[in-house]
Amino acid sequence: MQPAMTRRTRLAPTPSGYLHPGNCVNFLLVQERAQRIGAQIVLRIDDLDFVRSRPEYVEDIFRTLEWLGITWDIGPQSVHEFHTRYSMALRHEYYRERFAQMSRMGLPIFACCCSRAELQAHDSVRCVRGCAQSTARAGADERAMRLQTPQGGLVSVGGQTIDLGRVHGDVIMWRRDDLPSYHLANVIEDHDLGITDIVRGIDLLESSALHIWLAQAAGLSGVRADSYVHHELVTGVSGEKLSKSQGQASPLEHSSANRRWIHQLARGLAQNP
Ligand SMILES: [Zn+2]
Repeated sequence: MQPAMTRRTRLAPTPSGYLHPGNCVNFLLVQERAQRIGAQIVLRIDDLDFVRSRPEYVEDIFRTLEWLGITWDIGPQSVHEFHTRYSMALRHEYYRERFAQMSRMGLPIFACCCSRAELQAHDSVRCVRGCAQSTARAGADERAMRLQTPQGGLVSVGGQTIDLGRVHGDVIMWRRDDLPSYHLANVIEDHDLGITDIVRGIDLLESSALHIWLAQAAGLSGVRADSYVHHELVTGVSGEKLSKSQGQASPLEHSSANRRWIHQLARGLAQNP
């Protein structure tokens, strides 16, 4: 008899701002799912954006998880351990090597000099200058490495069908500021950590479709489409999505009233998958 596969899910906060109630609700839903299916929890702090990542935001993650009463089985148990052993900055060259492997596998990757503004001006998610065919060599700092997603490639996830070519087009894998893209690092990390189950906000549904396809294309074990759970987002008073860029300008007050409120929000969303 095959041994039962260990199921694993993850908490994947980004230290680019103070956590907001929406992040807290996601953590509780991850914990709830892990308990329900008997999965281990990994803490993976996505500090890929080294520019926006700040030590106080990392501290805020640990403090908030403790306040919520959430524990995890794998990953850093302290701020110090995170910085010395788990920061993604420590794996920059590793990501580069894994990306080179993908290129050698023959995935359609090319250097693209188009700026985001150019793509927006053409209302396109694909390279607009024909960079893949161009013989003009741009400097490394003027180009990003993009991966062509298949035209008409469909991925079903969360009860929806996502057209990769239309939504993602030529998706950036390696940024012009010499960092791996979020999508690339995410798929590599989920593979390396043996993640089998993901609980994330519905705003990431289209990313999930890309991650499912990318893992398969790159020959990595990925999370199966039916092991993704997408939940509704917690919205602000006027119905707007809460995001770090809109600023949780200061740490969330760790009061017992706030904790009750967040648990209540999570219970509401858990009953409405
Ligand atoms: Zn281009």
